[in-house]
Amino acid sequence: MNERIVILGGGESGVGAAVLALQKGYEVFLSDGGNLASERRRVLKSQKIDFEEGGHTEELILNASVVVKSPGIPDSAPLIKKIVAKGIPVISEIEFAYRFIDKAKVIAITGTNGKTTTSLLTYHLLKTAGYKVALGGNVGKSLAGLVAKGGYHYYVVEVSSFQLDGIVNFRPDVAVLLNITPDHLDRYEYNFNKYITSKFRIVENLTNEQAFIYSADSEPVTEEISRRKIEASMFAMSASNNSKLNAYLKDEHLIFNFQYKEDRKQYQIPISEVSLIGKHNMVNSMAAVLSALNMDVPIEKILKGLKSFKNAPHRLEFVKEIDGAAYINDSKATNVDSVYYALDGVKGKIIWIAGGIDKGNDYTQIEKLVKKKVKALICMGKDNRGLTDFFGSKLDMIAEVDSAKKAVEQAHEWAEKGDVVLLSPACASFDLFNNYEDRGDKFKSAVNKLSKKLKVNEA
Ligand code: ADP
Repeated sequence: MNERIVILGGGESGVGAAVLALQKGYEVFLSDGGNLASERRRVLKSQKIDFEEGGHTEELILNASVVVKSPGIPDSAPLIKKIVAKGIPVISEIEFAYRFIDKAKVIAITGTNGKTTTSLLTYHLLKTAGYKVALGGNVGKSLAGLVAKGGYHYYVVEVSSFQLDGIVNFRPDVAVLLNITPDHLDRYEYNFNKYITSKFRIVENLTNEQAFIYSADSEPVTEEISRRKIEASMFAMSASNNSKLNAYLKDEHLIFNFQYKEDRKQYQIPISEVSLIGKHNMVNSMAAVLSALNMDVPIEKILKGLKSFKNAPHRLEFVKEIDGAAYINDSKATNVDSVYYALDGVKGKIIWIAGGIDKGNDYTQIEKLVKKKVKALICMGKDNRGLTDFFGSKLDMIAEVDSAKKAVEQAHEWAEKGDVVLLSPACASFDLFNNYEDRGDKFKSAVNKLSKKLKVNEA
């Protein structure tokens, strides 16, 4: 009889796991407590995969020999506790997928921030170099689905801590840890150390045949490294000038001291050759370059990819230049930390559009930077008191608006040649928009409409 696998959760990763399991000869059952998206239901039906939705039937689950759990289901869920109590192994989808990766190499990228950007860039560097690359995990497709498809040289995988919580043998050829700051603590009993331990599971199966790339700027990361013995070849990065490290920033250059097996080289890449902007993105770029170098990609090809890369939208995304001022959409920046990197990263005087739903923001962290670089603040939210109370006495030009269109019009009125109009809200978007994407799209559309209108008037 075939081994019975039960997959809990029928999202992207669950359906991918079901398809791969079927292909590998398992008896497959997928169970989702909620409703499936119609596209996913269609895939399951077309492959004749047995499934249920709207609830879990325990008799059909507790007879599994292995369970693949969606990252969205916490370990504390009563059903998971019952499965574990019966001694049935519960693994994550990346663990399951990994078991069927044969010759291809795996680059796994984790961290609290910057995962998507770094995964996309790493994918782009390998792709530009001519390899067959798959991009999976949190960004894009499920790793299991991609493994089922096969035919790739490389898998670039964006890995969340929830996926790492369910690994056993997962051993990426390159593991990247970008940073750790407190996040998702509700899933870790409000214990930051538990979250750190979870992130570090990315290295637990490494040997000196694999590479571990990490940011030396992130204290929780370096402290944890000093506490444990990690077997891998280590590559440390920093956004400041620290020539002891493998990658650092000096005089507007990314410097790489790259030692791989017998090979020792130094590369210096001017930041003008990197399409991303902002210090945080320099670390993301270093991580992608070190990953590619570890995979033997020639530096000339890496340079080409660095220049031609276009990030996912809403992350310091250049929209247009109007009357000599650049308009930039950073709608994804929903906390003060992200805004810090945005303000720091752009050149020129800034007209800053911020606001929305404030999660208890403390603006002291960016106060100095705002004084130095921001000439005007446009508050775009229903309740702007957090921003106006803090910056009211510190900036000469402050306006309040309740739409992206009005924000752009106000910005245009104030903008002079060489200025940057930056939407980097530090807040969630739900007061005026559906989500951060909607906010960014409305901003871009307002900028494009204004630009068109001005052109028509000129003609
Ligand atoms: P993730 O996938 O981890 O959420 P993204 O690449 O989508 O990360 O970036 C989300 C936001 O996090 C960006 O808009 C930026 O403000 C911030 N960010 C990106 N990279 C870093 C980094 N290396 N360090 C700190 N913050 C970063």
